[in-house]
Amino acid sequence: MSLKNLRTHYTTQINPEQIGDDKVALAGWVHEVRDLGGICFVVLRDRQGRAQVTLVKKKIDRELFNFARKLIRESVISVRGSIKPEGKAPNGYELIPDEIELLNEAESPLPLDTTGKVDAELDTRLDSRFIDLRRSRTNAIFRIRHEVLHAVRNYLANGGFLETSSPKVVATATEGGTALFPITYFDREAFLNQSPQLFKQILMSGGMDRVFEIGPIFRAEEHDTRRHLNEATSIDIEASFVDHFDVMEILENMVEYVYNQVIENVPDALEVMGIELKVPKTPFLKLTYQEAMDIVNSHGEEELKWGDDLSTLSEHTIGEHVFQETGEEHYFIIDWPTEIKPFYAMPYEEKPEFSKSFDMMHRTMELSSGAQRIHVPEMLKNRIADQGLDPEGFDFYLRAFSYGMPPHSGWGLGCERFVMTMLGVENIRDVVLFPRDRRRLSP
Ligand code: ATP
Ligand code: MN
Repeated sequence: MSLKNLRTHYTTQINPEQIGDDKVALAGWVHEVRDLGGICFVVLRDRQGRAQVTLVKKKIDRELFNFARKLIRESVISVRGSIKPEGKAPNGYELIPDEIELLNEAESPLPLDTTGKVDAELDTRLDSRFIDLRRSRTNAIFRIRHEVLHAVRNYLANGGFLETSSPKVVATATEGGTALFPITYFDREAFLNQSPQLFKQILMSGGMDRVFEIGPIFRAEEHDTRRHLNEATSIDIEASFVDHFDVMEILENMVEYVYNQVIENVPDALEVMGIELKVPKTPFLKLTYQEAMDIVNSHGEEELKWGDDLSTLSEHTIGEHVFQETGEEHYFIIDWPTEIKPFYAMPYEEKPEFSKSFDMMHRTMELSSGAQRIHVPEMLKNRIADQGLDPEGFDFYLRAFSYGMPPHSGWGLGCERFVMTMLGVENIRDVVLFPRDRRRLSP
């Protein structure tokens, strides 16, 4: 028998008014068994939702009734039968079974409660992710994450961006500062790439004009915060013949589009999470680095000098200030000092101590960094040396600038931070299936 016969529909795909006498088969997990003596309800759960299987003792085969009563929670079953409209049941119907097949019996007790009634620590949930994913809130997060990535791909592909992939095993650091994970590559040392930056720029020299990549980035930073991972997913774009303002516009419009798509396509997942999503208003407010510093300094909790990077506290102060003033959570900080941005950020011609760079911020954290890039080889070489890096290690990259490199700009947006801020999730690990942090390497 083909396994396809085990399931004809998801629980949410059945229209009780239209299905008539057709037999259906649902397959999933035993969410709950309620045995009331004369009647027994088995709640079956699949990825999309739940269905009530109803067995009335007097009307049903005795053996089937007894079998259903004894089902163990979280076992996998397939139920074949007919549909009866029932307003009080999930999705407006109940399934009257002819047949219940037990496909895999769960042990008990379970490592984790799946009903959401008993809360578990994040660590416990991550250790048993397979079962945590059966909880409706966790299930909702990953259905929304899927929708976010799907919408990003749609938006960028429709905007003329080609989807590309760059190597994750590399010979040199993308930029100084961020620590790298060394690995053994045959008899040589190599590293896990911290960003697709250098490769997506090379593609501009290759005439690919507009590219995007959604892929992993690795950062060997030892921080233990709610917004840092050692392996994260970066949404990156690079585009030729446009400046930093043009790619900021692409970014804010993409954010708006993605929020709208999530509202439209996964309202049930938002409802499970109890979220009423508000679409960010475009264009986002643009503060200069100087204005952002002034906000922090006028609040008096911290004293920032020109050339300082923003601390976590200052990000919060500015985010809160912007929210109070505008009611919006997203904004840009533009025109950063050249010296605190990566070497590839283009300085302004008339004031080279400032760069054509930006961060896109959420009220609570940085979501994205971008800039117009330096496309002039001599200037780029000097900037690499200025930052104490060895230009020789960048030879494979620099060569692409000497034979026709167009002016170009781009950004990188952290997928997990994008999702966590959208959903108001406290810890970034909650929006990664199998997070990698300083302590966690398994599962
Ligand atoms: P931060 O200063 O907040 O650590 P960053 O400036 O080092 O971030 P970038 O190199 O600018 O990060 O990377 C672009 C985006 O990628 C960030 O804005 C963020 O959304 C995401 N990102 C970078 N590093 C991490 C990380 N360790 N964990 C999760 N997301 C990250
Ligand atoms: Mn950044």
